[in-house]
Amino acid sequence: MENTDKDQSHVLIIGGGLSGALLAINLLRKKVKRKIIIFDTRTQLGHGLAYSTNHLVHTLNNIPSKLSIDPNNSEDFSEWLLSNKKCERESKELYPPRKYFGEYVLCRLNEAIDVGKTHGTTLTFVNDEVTNLQDLPNQVIVSTKNNGTWFGNVAVIATGLSQKSKTDNLQSELSGLIFDPWDIEGMREIKENARILIVGSGLTMVDALFSLKEINHNGSIHVISRHGLIPHPRIQSNPWPDFLKENKAIKTPRQALSIIRSECKKAQSAGFGWQAPIDAIRSSIGELWYKASDAHKRQFIHHLRALWENHLHRCPPAGYDLIKDLQEKGLLTFEASKLISLNKRNSEISARIKRKCATSTQDVEFDHVIIACGMDYDWTHFKNGLSNTLIFNGTVRPGPLNIGIMTNAAGRIIDKSNKLSERLFALGPPLRGVWWECTSISSIAMQAKALCELI
Ligand SMILES: Cc1cc2nc3c(=O)[nH]c(=O)nc-3n(C[C@H](O)[C@H](O)[C@H](O)COP(=O)(O)OP(=O)(O)OC[C@H]3O[C@@H](n4cnc5c(N)ncnc54)[C@H](O)[C@@H]3O)c2cc1C
Repeated sequence: MENTDKDQSHVLIIGGGLSGALLAINLLRKKVKRKIIIFDTRTQLGHGLAYSTNHLVHTLNNIPSKLSIDPNNSEDFSEWLLSNKKCERESKELYPPRKYFGEYVLCRLNEAIDVGKTHGTTLTFVNDEVTNLQDLPNQVIVSTKNNGTWFGNVAVIATGLSQKSKTDNLQSELSGLIFDPWDIEGMREIKENARILIVGSGLTMVDALFSLKEINHNGSIHVISRHGLIPHPRIQSNPWPDFLKENKAIKTPRQALSIIRSECKKAQSAGFGWQAPIDAIRSSIGELWYKASDAHKRQFIHHLRALWENHLHRCPPAGYDLIKDLQEKGLLTFEASKLISLNKRNSEISARIKRKCATSTQDVEFDHVIIACGMDYDWTHFKNGLSNTLIFNGTVRPGPLNIGIMTNAAGRIIDKSNKLSERLFALGPPLRGVWWECTSISSIAMQAKALCELI
């Protein structure tokens, strides 16, 4: 399959998750006649990894007014929920299922397709895997697994997230090892009193706890992560000024931490939670990261990353209540430990664990191990697929500290020979190394709008 009308202004979008769908929505609404071709291996656009779960227990981590995909209308998602009868009344404390968010994005995409038709812009969905992308002087060429060749003027890499478990050396055949914490049906074989180890203590772990609750699991759950931090509950914070925005004095992560701590104390004594200053500076953290040296970026990752993510990515109240309930029943424990290896021993899985600060390892037996250790942003870890091909042939190069891929501030790709591409862009999680805070719904909505202006 291919597009033959090469004279048209084609935009090729690789990846039809949230990022690809939001870019398409913006392009369809823009009154410029062109053809948009969007590629994804999934059958539903707008869902991607985050919003493909079908289970209502896997919720968003914020309230609808903070999750609108329309930067000009913060109530867009709330209005959609109400008009599509996904909730009975407007509620400021509602944390909707992620499944609804995927449906909302797809609905807005379909509406934008109708708008596009009025000025001659069309969208074609190619349900196929992109295997290569060539950035040539006068065009871009996309090749797909099913022998498709597609020509375009511009291409956008919106290939999103990859689970860490897919790149760690954990892809073993051990029975009892669970790589998909959202696959409740797949977990139904777990016995009610099974001993569970969850690796990772972030919001994916909270999803895993809900999945286990759905199958009526009632056994012990041990959670390990390198830092041992437990998610904080999301409490809607009052507005607080972005105190980092105009602060030119901050040069190091240590200085940033010191001023953040002092603002959090100020907020607490003013009767606000510590959450208010944290929420206020999210976009400025991106600016600081962008300007920081590699040495300071490394310092942030080693010393502050876990703390920052733990305070920013807070868990929906229901998730926090579930953690507390399981802890009170003595069923849930957390530990700062590193997983060294997993081995099958009779019908059990023996996990070799090294506790933080311990000098020796310890072997502990479990019936099942759920891998919930988050996302991998290092493109050099991917051993196959498009990411690997693009790094290998130099079309893209790894971003700062090997995180994501290298682009300029606007998302224009910089290749292996340091050349700024005329036609190739990236959007969403691949920009992690350049901007750090680039994966939330609000951040992707803003990036998609800005990129649409550029292409
Ligand atoms: C479990 C989870 C929950 C989250 N919850 C929230 C939340 O509550 N609030 C919030 O603000 N943010 C949340 N996020 C973060 C955020 O919304 C995501 O970062 C965002 O969805 C990223 O979208 P994306 O389209 O860039 O990536 P993805 O969702 O990963 O989509 C990329 C798409 O590209 C396709 N693709 C990749 N490679 C190819 C290829 N070679 N050929 C064809 N197709 C390809 C994939 O199939 C996929 O559908 C969550 C993230 C996760 C993982």
